Amino acid sequence: METPRTLRELSCADDYDPNSLPVDRARALIREFLSPVTAIERVNIRAALDRVLAVDVVSPLDVPGHDNSAMDGWAVRFADLAKDGETTLRRVGESFAGKPFNGEVRNGEAVRIFTGGVMPRGADSVVMQERATETPEGVAIAAGAVGKAGQNRRFAGEDLKRGEVVFRKGQPLRPAELGMLASLGIGEVSIFRRLRVAFFSTGDELRSVGQPLAAGEIYDSNRYTLFGMLSRLNCEVLDMGVVPDVPDLLEQAFTSAAAAADVVITSGGVSVGEADFVKALLDKLGEVLFWKIAMKPGRPLAYGRIGGAHFFGLPGNPVSVMVTFYEFVRDALLVLQGRSDVAPMPMFKATLAAPIRKVPGRTEFQRAVLSPDSAGSWQVRTTGDQGSGILSSMSRANCFVVLSADTGNLDAGSPVDVQLLEGLI
Ligand code: AMP
Ligand code: MG
Repeated sequence: METPRTLRELSCADDYDPNSLPVDRARALIREFLSPVTAIERVNIRAALDRVLAVDVVSPLDVPGHDNSAMDGWAVRFADLAKDGETTLRRVGESFAGKPFNGEVRNGEAVRIFTGGVMPRGADSVVMQERATETPEGVAIAAGAVGKAGQNRRFAGEDLKRGEVVFRKGQPLRPAELGMLASLGIGEVSIFRRLRVAFFSTGDELRSVGQPLAAGEIYDSNRYTLFGMLSRLNCEVLDMGVVPDVPDLLEQAFTSAAAAADVVITSGGVSVGEADFVKALLDKLGEVLFWKIAMKPGRPLAYGRIGGAHFFGLPGNPVSVMVTFYEFVRDALLVLQGRSDVAPMPMFKATLAAPIRKVPGRTEFQRAVLSPDSAGSWQVRTTGDQGSGILSSMSRANCFVVLSADTGNLDAGSPVDVQLLEGLI
């Protein structure tokens, strides 16, 4: 299929059914419309943790810079060592990490060397200290202490070579990358600017924390889960509060959010019955598609553009917000942040500890707890009631059991796909 140029064109494609859109299809459609940030900041490497590299990094050095010892022992010439007996060598100096031996190792000589110590000229191998004894006559090296020339020696440039591309643009900077940059003497890097994400909750029934509740009113929790999930992804968050289901107020909120941010996320107001006036409003302000995703929870989802901003209209139910965020928004934000390695959340197999009831037709994301069984294999058990309003199910869970659309009831012992929540964002 050719990439559609606009969302409206997309909505005319033959295989497009907004009333039952498979999860993968929705994810792929969203992907077609994402254009990553381009603005670049230059920061100290510590400030670059969890950000995305904006240019390739080329190594200015060989790492390590010199041949050096991989262990504490004796730097020797392999050719000096007897094939089948002990060899006694003369100690001529020491090479410590950071304090090299400046002379040369000649025939019959050895230098005491420590891990990271520069290999002295003339020596080609290191005998580990356990295989040598220092005596008044010299250093006695056990027979066969070095199997072949070059043993226990680290070579200059074996980790990184000068001029080599170490990291490509789009690389996320994790602790290992910070360490590697430091090992190259690089103290500043160019990263993409943070994504600005504005969000608000919609609903006449919602009150913010700190306000009293009248009959039938509830506290807005979605702004807090969204705040948490967005902060974990290192986004700049703009919390725009609660907006009641009043067309004028919603229009104002959508307009100012889109003007201030790269991405606008709302919760509530996209389900059947509520969608109609929101739809009319968004048709006026931008280009937005309303989908019923073939998934549970998280069926209604709106996606599109308002002004220059990407827009995600998430369902109102607290669990649905989190599931749709993890399954659709998270990937999209990573792409928008400039990451080059974005893949769907990884899945692996675990064994069901108890049966699951499921009606075929939709992909289900059941909240569950993954734990080792007595034999050390991974087993998974759902958290119980899977209602989309039961936020405690997310809190108790450490994974989703992902049940494909065609799956029905499953017995205990069945293998199922699991997505880990821990460490994900
Ligand atoms: P809606 O999609 O607006 O019809 O909302 C679906 C359900 O989620 C309703 O029971 C709402 O009261 C609830 N809900 C919507 N927004 C929030 C929110 N921000 N915090 C907690 N519950 C919400
Ligand atoms: Mg609502």
